[in-house]
Amino acid sequence: MKIVFATNNQHKLREVQQLLGEEFEVVTPRECGIVEDIPEEQPTLEGNALQKARYIFQRTGLDCFADDTGLEVEALGGEPGVRSARYATDEGHDDEANKRLLLKNMECKDNRKAQFRTAMALITGGEEHLFEGIVRGEILCSEQGDGGFGYDPLFKPEGYDCSFAEMAAEEKNAISHRGRAIAKLVAWLKK
Ligand code: IMP
Repeated sequence: MKIVFATNNQHKLREVQQLLGEEFEVVTPRECGIVEDIPEEQPTLEGNALQKARYIFQRTGLDCFADDTGLEVEALGGEPGVRSARYATDEGHDDEANKRLLLKNMECKDNRKAQFRTAMALITGGEEHLFEGIVRGEILCSEQGDGGFGYDPLFKPEGYDCSFAEMAAEEKNAISHRGRAIAKLVAWLKK
């Protein structure tokens, strides 16, 4: 089954293709002729995921899904949340600057509880569905490991002694926010 996933991020594409397995052919917006940035201007993760999926569906008519993820830190009132990619700069996607700012804002904080939360919007047969995936953990006091991407070196999932950046991809996928949201989406698609 051919399905469009609203990302041109190779890390996420590999993760999602691994999770979906061979019976799905995951294609990118670019492969469908969408070269412009897909708008995500909503104040919530769910709003952004739906906005991106609707954009692709309107342009291609194909089944598609889109996700939006935020790192929600308890001591920061849920920040950076929906602004996780643009935490340090409005242009966004400066992972190094985002991690530096998070460490600075978490200096002297005893409560280091945090969660990654993914909202996943699926449009299939013209119908919309929303799925959520959450992984709880804590923010480390310094970076650990050099795998993964984004905030991975600063996030230690509950029940583990290492950061996401120190885990093998399969190990992270099995427990991650995106992994859990995708598992729900896959279970729904296979129903
Ligand atoms: P997006 O909605 O997946 O693009 O995620 C927004 C931001 O959250 C990205 O800029 C990443 O920095 C961060 N992020 C999303 N997923 C992960 C993850 O699995 N590990 C670490 N950071 C992530």
